[in-house]
Amino acid sequence: MKLVRYGNPGKEKPGLIDADGKLRDLSGVVPDIGPQQLGAPGLAKLRKANPARLPLVRGKPRFGCPVNGVGKFIAIGLNYADHAAESGVPIPKEPVVFMKATSCIQGPNDPVMLPRGSTKTDWEVELGVVIGSRARYVPMVKALAHVAGYAVINDVSEREYQLERGPQWDKGKGCDTFGPIGPWLVTPDEIANVQRLDMWLDVNGQRMQAGNTRTMIFNVAKLVSYVSHFMTLLPGDVITTGTPPGVGLGMKPPTYLKKGDVVTLGIEGLGEQRQEVVAFKA
Ligand code: ZN
Repeated sequence: MKLVRYGNPGKEKPGLIDADGKLRDLSGVVPDIGPQQLGAPGLAKLRKANPARLPLVRGKPRFGCPVNGVGKFIAIGLNYADHAAESGVPIPKEPVVFMKATSCIQGPNDPVMLPRGSTKTDWEVELGVVIGSRARYVPMVKALAHVAGYAVINDVSEREYQLERGPQWDKGKGCDTFGPIGPWLVTPDEIANVQRLDMWLDVNGQRMQAGNTRTMIFNVAKLVSYVSHFMTLLPGDVITTGTPPGVGLGMKPPTYLKKGDVVTLGIEGLGEQRQEVVAFKA
């Protein structure tokens, strides 16, 4: 299934994308797509709904983040060998874990706002993993059973705040609008192999990032297992799994986003995002 939430911010309704790519309203089946719907019983209920009998949604409504009520927004740093190299740091021996503030989460096509005074706002296309059931000290072989689905994420990052304002990254990762998620939450049965997905990101139509999840240093199963040894993962938690090479920080000279830029990005089977970059507004 490709699950979505559509409508104005804060007023999103649950929906799904049918086999013809049409948007269908799920609000007669479930009140929302959130932690209550992401476990095996919740997904089974959604699976029973016959898409052809759900109301068709006309027009082109905005998409919100496909999961409401994300409790933790966990991020993995330097998880692609080439990206570690362009960042000028060694390949990590263990996953680098940091947090993005949940207040940065937004829809996939909502504008990205430069933080006040920012000169180093950067892009990162990433595979997002949405947790469906409680996971605590799970072994790798059982880790993927806790995954409700996958989504495209742009791990927008302010490099000065991240790297020049202290030893830990969170300051540059959780600014408002820095967490576009979606358009779809795609359940694992639709993905033949999550470690073989092409991913890309363009700025103003120019290809900046082109990668594939096969070059992750730590794969999805490892990451879910690993993080679950440090914190209990709960339904609706999101793990964003790192970015391939081609970020602005790695360019010579480094190149960052400015007002009016348009960022487009996508992952095979998971859909596409589009964000216009806008100036700071209080
Ligand atoms: Zn990242």
